[in-house]
Amino acid sequence: MSLIRYAARIHFAERVIEDVLPEEMRVRRIAAPLVVVDADTGQALLRVLDCLPLGCRPRILDLSGIDAGTDISRAVQRALRTGGDCADDDASGGEGDCDAVIGLGGAVALAVARFANVERSPASAPSLRRGREPVAAQVLSVPTLPGCLGLGPQSWSARDQRGVALPSRIPDVVFCDPTLMRSAAPARLAAAGMDVLVHCLEALLATAWNPPADGMAFDGLRRASCWLERLVADPGDSDAGREMLAAALNGALASQKGLGAVHAMAHALETLAVGPESHGELHAALIGPALAFNAPAVPERFAMVAEAMQLRDGRAVADHLVALGERLGQPRCLGHLGLTSVGIDRLAAAAARARANRENPRHATAADYKQMFRAAR
Ligand SMILES: [Zn+2]
Repeated sequence: MSLIRYAARIHFAERVIEDVLPEEMRVRRIAAPLVVVDADTGQALLRVLDCLPLGCRPRILDLSGIDAGTDISRAVQRALRTGGDCADDDASGGEGDCDAVIGLGGAVALAVARFANVERSPASAPSLRRGREPVAAQVLSVPTLPGCLGLGPQSWSARDQRGVALPSRIPDVVFCDPTLMRSAAPARLAAAGMDVLVHCLEALLATAWNPPADGMAFDGLRRASCWLERLVADPGDSDAGREMLAAALNGALASQKGLGAVHAMAHALETLAVGPESHGELHAALIGPALAFNAPAVPERFAMVAEAMQLRDGRAVADHLVALGERLGQPRCLGHLGLTSVGIDRLAAAAARARANRENPRHATAADYKQMFRAAR
């Protein structure tokens, strides 16, 4: 917990795709990118393809329709296979190997791009290759929703065909273009926006020593609580888009400090394949029990959260966020997931093992998580 690391290259501006992406690709000598897209990519694919440098040979891997909870490893294997030297039915576009991976879309595309860029020994193919040699291809991240932007901790783990765990990388360049969110469905923006709020909230509550992260989390909370509802009401609102993407960047960078019990439970639900498409959809149900558990441990931090959100005191935070989730159409409980008591035992054990639990401000056991899941049911 002693490491403070901020070394990502990030462009942030409206239409930054058209203004900067071609030049970044030229400088990086990217000629054959694998473009990974998902259900949240929308019109952004056409815009990216339109501005690729002349002679660029993109291949496209479409992951829309994958169930991230169960299929993330398979999706990564497909990306590695598609980016390597063999043909793949799912790929289209140019011929030959790929020298970069562009994650373009929501959480699935960005996560797979980070796993797919793995330098592997020839014996442990699949890999991305240039000629016969495996290479560490560059990763570019182009988010179309406010979320972790490819910069936060990975929600998923992925394995290669032999069952070996694959490491995930921080992207070489992130392109934050608020105009890419204009065609997003309000429900997707609501779930992604709730995730941004919780990234900032949990980073601010986490007890590791990381003053820059505290500052970013505070600012992200302030922006997201002011602007999220306005963006969901009108995805074309350019002020709201810019502010929410700024909040997402704050939350993504701050979350290296740590997350907490909400994410420990959300990740457990995701990886045990009972969760929805985006773990942000779970937060309104999980926030109440998680914050009630944490409140006695860090009351002074709750006061900071309240200040950022312009609430009267720390005790108002949970109710405010639950009500906000409700106004945004987010489920207030987990009832729709049909959790059984056996299911809750497994989920509670997984949440207790999650990395986010180690970062939670109050030590939580599997028994504690069982209670929290029951309260959220
Ligand atoms: Zn999250």
